[in-house]
Amino acid sequence: MSNIMVLGSISTDFVVTADRRPETGETITGKDFRTTFGGKGANQAVASARLGGRVSMVGTVGEDLFGTELIENLRINGIDTSNVERVTHLPSGSAHITIVDGDNAIIYIPGANNAFDSARLQHLETELEKVELMVIQNEVPQEIVEAVIGLCFEKGVKVLYNPAPARTMDEALLEKVTFMTPNESEYKIMFPELSLSEGIKKYPGKLIVTLGSKGVCYHDGAVERNVPAYVVGPVDTTGAGDTFNGAFAVGIASGLDIEASLQLGNLAAALSVQKFGAQGGMPTLAELKENEH
Ligand code: ADP
Repeated sequence: MSNIMVLGSISTDFVVTADRRPETGETITGKDFRTTFGGKGANQAVASARLGGRVSMVGTVGEDLFGTELIENLRINGIDTSNVERVTHLPSGSAHITIVDGDNAIIYIPGANNAFDSARLQHLETELEKVELMVIQNEVPQEIVEAVIGLCFEKGVKVLYNPAPARTMDEALLEKVTFMTPNESEYKIMFPELSLSEGIKKYPGKLIVTLGSKGVCYHDGAVERNVPAYVVGPVDTTGAGDTFNGAFAVGIASGLDIEASLQLGNLAAALSVQKFGAQGGMPTLAELKENEH
């Protein structure tokens, strides 16, 4: 198994369930509260590590209690955290989620996830020599995403770029990534003028669009391909995309071809949506093997 490096966000989700949302100035009593580990970067790192990936995380947390817990959680999952830094001037990243009648309302505070200076990029340059696949998302500043993709391209390191949350990007940059994995709505924001078929045809073997319960589609250079999802009864689809990306990364880093890696991604994601929480449902290699058929 080759080394996977995940550069991205590390956050805590604070999840409140209530019958309704309070008016301004009002206090109401809610029904439930829980904290879960999140951040797309950390989620994808955990998904890969649970499946046996040798994963190193690059990210930033605050010098607060949450930062300590966030790092500990990565370690418990077997992730190398020597490239996770702590800063004193910003809090650890957090998402404040209120659920009413099953619908989410979220305030995301990036906090320390926005702290990443150029000195770290120089350090990363030497670290990249040991890396087979870089996994990156959009929850860190755009200039960092661009610099890291450029650096990996120069060094010949493969990049799995999950452009979530979506933002428009320079096409020249997209040429430099090995794989790009938007979901359907992210795809529409990135390529407003191209139908799904046109987009995947333009980036064969590179652009993979995840379609929820319909699986994924891509173009293999000759024909359009759909790799169907597994049919399951979902309990909580939070983090389905993160599990998919983490598992797909493990497939690619272990030398599987794109189709087999996509099947691995679909299987891991299908198992994850049957449990609560983004990281809560991410399967281990043993659980995955039990469900392979
Ligand atoms: P995101 O979570 O980023 O919105 P998707 O909803 O496209 O991304 O889901 C990512 C992947 O997770 C899908 O390609 C599929 O493999 C799996 N998945 C998501 N929802 C389901 C579901 N209801 N049943 C089975 N697999 C699912």
